[in-house]
Amino acid sequence: MSLIYEGKAKRVYETDNPDQVRVEFKDSATAFNGQKKAEIPGKGIVNAAVTTRLYGWLQDHGIATHFIEQLDDRNLLVDKLTMVQLEVVVRNWVAGSLHQRTGIPEGTTMDEPIIEFYYKNDDLGDPLLNEDHIRLLGAASPDLVARLRQEALRINQVLKPFFLQRGIVLVDFKLEFGWDAMGELKLGDEISPDTCRLWDQSSGERLDKDRFRRDLGRVEEAYQEILKRVMS
Ligand code: 5GP
Repeated sequence: MSLIYEGKAKRVYETDNPDQVRVEFKDSATAFNGQKKAEIPGKGIVNAAVTTRLYGWLQDHGIATHFIEQLDDRNLLVDKLTMVQLEVVVRNWVAGSLHQRTGIPEGTTMDEPIIEFYYKNDDLGDPLLNEDHIRLLGAASPDLVARLRQEALRINQVLKPFFLQRGIVLVDFKLEFGWDAMGELKLGDEISPDTCRLWDQSSGERLDKDRFRRDLGRVEEAYQEILKRVMS
């Protein structure tokens, strides 16, 4: 079946059903808007399995997602979505760009999670938007922004304890949403060590894509460790 879209970490293919697509998870990794590139052997297999486990868990907890079934070790069958042009980031601890923007030390906990919206636009480098910017761009209505915020917080409430039971702190993560053929808003894309910051609860060791972004080494090992714990 023909390729519809090739992204940095995934390929999307048509299926016999016009309302469904097949997503193939690649081993390619990019960072800093594509400036840094590498292959991380086995990453695609880890991310497909982790996404399958987490989306199954979310669906069991009443969250609508695009996930239908895992077809093989790198391929998922999902609902075809018309994507909202926003990335929704949930933060429980200070890290990454929140640290850079505020100067608050990485690893600082927060009483309440923070939700941020970023414009899905590679040419602009996915900039942070406030709700007035979103309205100006027509990227989402105020009602949709409120729904995305509420849904992201619900997902956080389901995922935080899932990870904590496995000795992992869910520091922050990125979500993408879209509408299926019936007009239902669903969680799309993936949730994996590529899209989350996951720190070992006791050592604070980073078990996510920051190992690649920051040249920390043992990238494959960290992905395999997350796979092992998530499947337990
Ligand atoms: P930050 O804004 O601190 O760079 O990222 C916050 C969180 O969202 C991190 O867990 C990061 O992995 C995720 N994230 C934000 N934007 C992207 C993106 O474009 N691609 C991926 N894979 N993750 C992202």
